[in-house]
Amino acid sequence: MKTFRCGDVVPGCQREFLGADRDAVLAQVAEHARADHHVEPDPALVRAVEANLHDAPERD
Ligand SMILES: [Zn+2]
Repeated sequence: MKTFRCGDVVPGCQREFLGADRDAVLAQVAEHARADHHVEPDPALVRAVEANLHDAPERD
């Protein structure tokens, strides 16, 4: 699982995302960017997300 914290890119945003892989997280972030930041996802956004993508701690 991968996680991404929007606040790492957009100061003040509290949204966090959890997905099975990079693409799953990116899909959620793209939707959030459009809905809440009124930003169209572009290559720069994809790079910013990839740069701040973390492995989720395994829980069992
Ligand atoms: Zn955000």
